[in-house]
Amino acid sequence: MTRALWPLLSILPVIFLGTQCTQHPPKDAPYKNPKLPVEQRLADLLARMTPRERAEMLAGAGWMESHSNARLGIPAIKMVDGPMGVRNWAGSSAITNAAATAPVLATAFPVGIGMAASWDVELVRREGRGIAQEVKALGRDMILAPTVNINRQPLWGRNFEGYGEDPYLAARMAVAFIQGVQSENVIPSVKHFAANNQEFERHRIDETIDARTLHEIYLPAFQAAVQEAGVWAVMNAYNKVNGLWCSENPYLLSETLQKRWGFKGFVITDWGSTYSTAAAVAAGVNLEMPGGEAMRTWFAKPATQKDGNGAGWLTPGKVLAAVAAGQLKQEAVDDAARRILRVMFTAGLFDSVHTRGGEVDTPEQKAVARTAAAESIVLLKNAGGLLPLGAAKIRSLAVTGPSAAISRTGGGGSSLVRPKYSVTPLNGIREAAGAQVQVGYALGVAMPGEEDPSEVSPQARAQLRGQAVELARKSDAAIVVVGYSSHLESESFDRPSMDLPAGQDELIAAVAAANPNTIVVIVAGAPVTMTRWIGRVPAVVEAWYGGQEAGHAIGDILFGAQNPSGKLPVTFPNQWSDSPAYGHYPGENLRVAYDEGIYVGYRGFDHRNVAPLFPFGHGLSYTRFDYSGLKITPAKVAAGNQVQVTARVRNSGSRAGAEVVELYVRDVKSSEDRPVKELKGFRRVTLNPGEAQDVSFTLDKSALSFYSAAKDDWVAEPGAFQVWIGASSRDIRLKGTFELTR
Ligand code: BGC
Repeated sequence: MTRALWPLLSILPVIFLGTQCTQHPPKDAPYKNPKLPVEQRLADLLARMTPRERAEMLAGAGWMESHSNARLGIPAIKMVDGPMGVRNWAGSSAITNAAATAPVLATAFPVGIGMAASWDVELVRREGRGIAQEVKALGRDMILAPTVNINRQPLWGRNFEGYGEDPYLAARMAVAFIQGVQSENVIPSVKHFAANNQEFERHRIDETIDARTLHEIYLPAFQAAVQEAGVWAVMNAYNKVNGLWCSENPYLLSETLQKRWGFKGFVITDWGSTYSTAAAVAAGVNLEMPGGEAMRTWFAKPATQKDGNGAGWLTPGKVLAAVAAGQLKQEAVDDAARRILRVMFTAGLFDSVHTRGGEVDTPEQKAVARTAAAESIVLLKNAGGLLPLGAAKIRSLAVTGPSAAISRTGGGGSSLVRPKYSVTPLNGIREAAGAQVQVGYALGVAMPGEEDPSEVSPQARAQLRGQAVELARKSDAAIVVVGYSSHLESESFDRPSMDLPAGQDELIAAVAAANPNTIVVIVAGAPVTMTRWIGRVPAVVEAWYGGQEAGHAIGDILFGAQNPSGKLPVTFPNQWSDSPAYGHYPGENLRVAYDEGIYVGYRGFDHRNVAPLFPFGHGLSYTRFDYSGLKITPAKVAAGNQVQVTARVRNSGSRAGAEVVELYVRDVKSSEDRPVKELKGFRRVTLNPGEAQDVSFTLDKSALSFYSAAKDDWVAEPGAFQVWIGASSRDIRLKGTFELTR
């Protein structure tokens, strides 16, 4: 070959690649072949994409659609909101929750905190599967769920969405939900990474959280989602952590999520959480949402910017300019495109299209919603065995309160699902009561914001309450259904206090004074103050926002068709000032220091020896369970080996029911301060009267370790460990010890 030909030869590959990149790929291109391994298809497709086409993958094309590519046949990922079911995808929640919007109807499951209160991992898996089936039936591919942020303090507006205050419980729920969703080839997106624990200034707040607290409290549910469930997508949070927005936080996204945990999926931004191009992509953000015209219209609104949203940073123009300017490496852009496409191949998006028009709210989904609602209910108090009610005990019943005759299926914001139907507590109670019990209803007090104009004067209020009191006085028992509404407990703002909204405490007190058999049912997503009346009512039931079947579930529990088995996934403080986060929330000058550290929830109540109103893990039953026969083997275990724990649970009462057995670990002596106890296992068992069952647990290093900031790793120190088995975090029935040796 003559030297003169060299220059020509050297540009041939460029010509060839360039042509390949702009042509339509052949029908038999490897990436189109579903039989080939994902990584092979991925490599083939990426090689065919121009730099611009890769960059285009990084920004959404609409409110809930990613970018598609007609030349290569790359479909858009079509998303919907969650986590309590499928929500409308037509625009922001302000738009889609408005009554005028064409509704998308889907099954409304109980809120996350209710699902966690069931402690039923299989149920949560079924819920995830059911929701994913509805995502597909509605022609979509991805659900923005689950929410796994820890309930740090009782005022957070989104406490209802998450799985409570304990990282272990939240992790178990997250894994089950994600496995359920992914088993249907629908893409979940575990959110909000990380530490979205307040709505107050959620776009600007800078949270100071030490590494140990992050790893022990706020990250475990995400870690389990990645390492155990192999989650396909993670959504970053709005807030800043330790000075950096979560969308440009290398510690969270690259160091922890990608390197330490080995995450292979993609990071999607929360809607309007980006503030830079190069920093965001380099840190590990892969897909910015929303995008396109929908983003521009929304972002142009003064309210959007006033809230502190940031958007429009990962457009192809900006991404390519950042690469050209040397601010961003091409590999980072390729990596983002690769991650998104990898998930799309894995979920089968290239091989089949989810077409709209499938069935939602099937009998199976309805049944899951009903079981979930019933299992979520927590019987907090039942003095004198007033519950369950029945025709043998009562002939007349007064039902009152602002949440009795209205369905409150969920809290407010982007998670609110519109079901085809819903059962109010009043109707559920009527159905369960049967013909022999006469059920009367009086409103008693209206929910703030829902008053009829004729109800707002002090006299009108007194009259409303008077009617309820009168009805209660002449009935054998009274049920007061109180709580919050989706307008008072919601995404976008925190609750101003833990107190029940205006007039509800007074109603309870007045009804209780008129009828000693008063039962309070609470419909809310987080603890409420009960001190003004808790001593005056014999029974209290926590029903959360129970989805479309809540009314049936409440009726079934109150009348005993279903034995209550839910347990609190969050400590109920007597008052807000008892909460460990009190004084460290909501921060000042846009900074909040998580100074309570790892002592969140029961860890904090134990640490400071504060008595809660109802402890974490508490929940009563209509039957009794005895615990015995604790066995821990071996008594001495070498580092790296497992410990087996078994205990026997017996239903010693007279009716069938489920019990949640809780296992806590206590490190007797440690070089670092550790919580009095930490949940490291639980089992839900259903037993007939007289029946007994052995429950077993395996404890490994993760159950014994703390996160050492000095070592930047988990450490299980040799020495004695106690195993506590109980019916709640403060009702420990069995204790044993083993020793961890070197
Ligand atoms: C919420 C997310 C939600 C997204 C899309 C955001 O405001 O924080 O949880 O998925 O909107 O609706």
